[in-house]
Amino acid sequence: MPIYEYACPACGKTFEKIQRTDIAQASCPVCGKTAERIVSRPAATATGNDSAPTPGCGSGGFT
Ligand SMILES: [Zn+2]
Repeated sequence: MPIYEYACPACGKTFEKIQRTDIAQASCPVCGKTAERIVSRPAATATGNDSAPTPGCGSGGFT
C-alpha cells in the first residue's frame, strides 16, 4: 500500500500515513485538525538540507 505524506496547516506537523486509496485529507496526530496531502519528496530526509550547494558538481574549479 502506498504511503502518503500529509502536512497540517494548523501546527505545521508533517506525517506519513498509509492509505488504501488516494485520500487527500487526514487527521493531524498532534492537534487533530485536518491535514492536507502533500507531494512526496524524492529524498526521505527530514532535515532541510536541500538548499545546500553541491561542491564539485560542474561549477568550475576543475582544472
Ligand atoms: Zn496539527
